[in-house]
Amino acid sequence: MPLVVMKFGGSSVADAEKIKRVAGRVISKKRKGNKVVVVVSAPGDMTDDLVALAEGVTTDPDEREMDMLLATGEQVSIALLSMAIKEMGEDAISLTGPQAGIYADKTHTRARIVRIAPAKIYQELAKGKIVIVAGFQGINRNLDITTLGRGGSDLTAVAIAAATKAGTCEIYTDVEGVYTTDPRLVKNAKKIDYISYEEMLEMAGTGAQVMQGRSIEVGKKYGVDIHVCSTFSENTGTFITSEEKIRSRRPTMEKVAVAGVTYDKNQVKLSVIDVRDKPGVAARIFGRLAKGGINVDMIIQSAATERHNDISFTVARTDLKKALGILEKARRALGAKSIIYDDKVVKVSIVGVGMRSHPGVAAKMFATLAKAKVNIEMISTSEIKVSCIIKEHDLQRAVAALHRAYKLGDK
Ligand code: ADP
Ligand code: ASP
Ligand code: MG
Repeated sequence: MPLVVMKFGGSSVADAEKIKRVAGRVISKKRKGNKVVVVVSAPGDMTDDLVALAEGVTTDPDEREMDMLLATGEQVSIALLSMAIKEMGEDAISLTGPQAGIYADKTHTRARIVRIAPAKIYQELAKGKIVIVAGFQGINRNLDITTLGRGGSDLTAVAIAAATKAGTCEIYTDVEGVYTTDPRLVKNAKKIDYISYEEMLEMAGTGAQVMQGRSIEVGKKYGVDIHVCSTFSENTGTFITSEEKIRSRRPTMEKVAVAGVTYDKNQVKLSVIDVRDKPGVAARIFGRLAKGGINVDMIIQSAATERHNDISFTVARTDLKKALGILEKARRALGAKSIIYDDKVVKVSIVGVGMRSHPGVAAKMFATLAKAKVNIEMISTSEIKVSCIIKEHDLQRAVAALHRAYKLGDK
């Protein structure tokens, strides 16, 4: 009997009616002759609400306790979904991440899965039950609960599909698949039928919230085919798979330079002003940030004047406070003039494997932004992506203009 992993996001289990609807879909999958493992997220905005609760009691929440708190959201959903399924006449059992054998590393709030021991999942499936697993959580060697980073239920689902060699991993969400850009921002965004792991990884990494980036890394590593589709319709969604598999179905893949436009609001630009222009300065600044666990994204260094220069870079907004603390110490040690930041910036990106074989894609992006009167503050590129930092108030105009320029929309 084929094994299917179905994952439902927070908006799909936001209230009792929606949970019953999900129960119905899961049961019909089982009755079609499948073994079913379901992964669920916390209902609605519960994870955000829990973060806010923690911030209400402390300005610097302990990370272990934060994980203990955040992991409760998913437990609400698994218990309610299991009850709903039983009420509708099928047998089910809810399992926490630890009960399902999801072992993670010691990092708190963004742990990596190190191993899945699915013995209990198999035992319960063998009894004919639908197995419902809490997304976003695992257990480490200290027997502490850890969470897998925001959006981490996607990772739980893909990793379980890899560990159990399930035929497919189905990701059910509140849109019909992966679109050429966020359909909430641009109305004529178009659903993509097939997208490669590489493109999806870059789209996720540059802000497309629809799939968590690390889940795509795992999908790529273990060759899990992922189908992103809507909880609220029966329509075919988007298949995320290897370039080779897609090429046979989407022969035009490389003819299209840009597959999607993304944006990321979780950005802040920091600048170290008037720092000595000598070897080792950048190493000390970025070394200290790395030691503090802060990821730095774009970096630019201005041309030196009188043996001084400015170094600017971006970090996640959620890391701002920590970064400022580290940089102030570095500033004193290096004798720099000041540290300034701008949190009214966003990153817009274009992504596509076709960029490898199309020159001029970046130039077109800059020309399009210029025509839309959007100023570019920073630029970074990879083989299949170009990103620009722009002012937040230009976001909608920039994304819409780029989406139009690369002819991505539904006519
Ligand atoms: P879930 O709660 O099901 O995990 P998420 O909120 O994490 O859902 O992801 C779905 C949301 O991602 C959509 O509502 C959509 O607004 C947003 N999104 C951003 N970029 C894209 C894109 N390129 N394609 C589809 N959805 C996108
Ligand atoms: N509930 C978690 C979050 O909001 C995990 C998830 O939804 O995937 O980030
Ligand atoms: Mg999500």
